[in-house]
Amino acid sequence: MEFELWWLLALPATFGLGWLASRLDLLQLRHDGKHRRDASLAYFRGLNFLLSEQQDKAIDAFIEAVTADPDTVDLHFALGNLFRRRGEYERAVRVHQNLLSRADLPAAERQRAQIALAQDFFKAGLLDRAEAVYTALTGTAYQSEALAALLQIHERTREWNSAIDIAQRLERLGGGSWGRQIAHYWCEIALRQRRDADYSAAQDSLDRAGAADPQAVRPWQLRAVIAEQQGDSAQALAHLRRAATLRPEFASVLAADVARLFRDTQQHQAGLEWLRTQLQESPAIELLDALLSLEPDAEQRRRVSLQYLQAHGSLLAARRAVEQAQASPDNETLRGALEQALDRALANRQRYRCAACGFEARSYAWHCPACMGWDTYPPRRSEELSLTGA
Ligand SMILES: [Zn+2]
Repeated sequence: MEFELWWLLALPATFGLGWLASRLDLLQLRHDGKHRRDASLAYFRGLNFLLSEQQDKAIDAFIEAVTADPDTVDLHFALGNLFRRRGEYERAVRVHQNLLSRADLPAAERQRAQIALAQDFFKAGLLDRAEAVYTALTGTAYQSEALAALLQIHERTREWNSAIDIAQRLERLGGGSWGRQIAHYWCEIALRQRRDADYSAAQDSLDRAGAADPQAVRPWQLRAVIAEQQGDSAQALAHLRRAATLRPEFASVLAADVARLFRDTQQHQAGLEWLRTQLQESPAIELLDALLSLEPDAEQRRRVSLQYLQAHGSLLAARRAVEQAQASPDNETLRGALEQALDRALANRQRYRCAACGFEARSYAWHCPACMGWDTYPPRRSEELSLTGA
């Protein structure tokens, strides 16, 4: 145990703790009253530095306190947490392992040290080791925390079946509904099965996704992908229309595929009507674009983009209206310049923006790569979202 702590302290110090090596002989000593007094003085000094946000000095003081009184469990926790917060995971691990190596550690403190150790491993990216420690804690007072962390680990390692299992356990513990996440986990499983050309298993997974979250759009989107892959464009189109009925505000996300399928199934007119209706009920630039892609008549395209611009006054709408404006030798230069100006103004405003963390994505995402949230992207590009005040 002493050797472990020595090793920790002997790591190259980035904040000038080299002097500590000279003090480590104290660890070998039994502790008399003076050392305990030194320890508590150093402890309070450390707390003081912590409160005034001087982490370097706090760590110095805590190490001094731990050196003077290695039996003090709380000091180990304070030190370990500080190391972890500073990103010095290896040192945090050493501190917590040092605690766990004590035969006399009470059960409650042992679990507390385990959860701290699991956090060190998690933060250090040692997910398999974190998983092992969190799994050992699922029957303890730290159950909810351990399960929530396990869920994050399974999401990162894309172990979707395990993620479903954990989410269902969290549900049984009374942590609210996890149906939305479970539906996405089933969708991820279905995507994998589709890649393996196991279509009946994929259909089954999508049924389970729908059962977990009856309002979910994504299972219908994936059913459409599979139907189209199997050569059934009409069925694919039916799935997407069904999804848009379920959640009209998500018609924007489906619009480009819907338009393409209407075209593939030779139903231009029906497609135009469907898109006009959606555009009326739940306006979005994606629906306008889909409509423009299906509309054969240039005059109609010009009119519909002008109407959209008049109704919404967005840069996105202006960009489309300029693009569709009647071409003539006179206004060709003006049009080119306007398009350039609009493109520049739109550079950062036509992305989708995560409502939870603000991370921006060029194409619509069900899962935020930054905050790992599910369904955190509103189905509108950020400029339109800001104009509607949603
Ligand atoms: Zn996010």
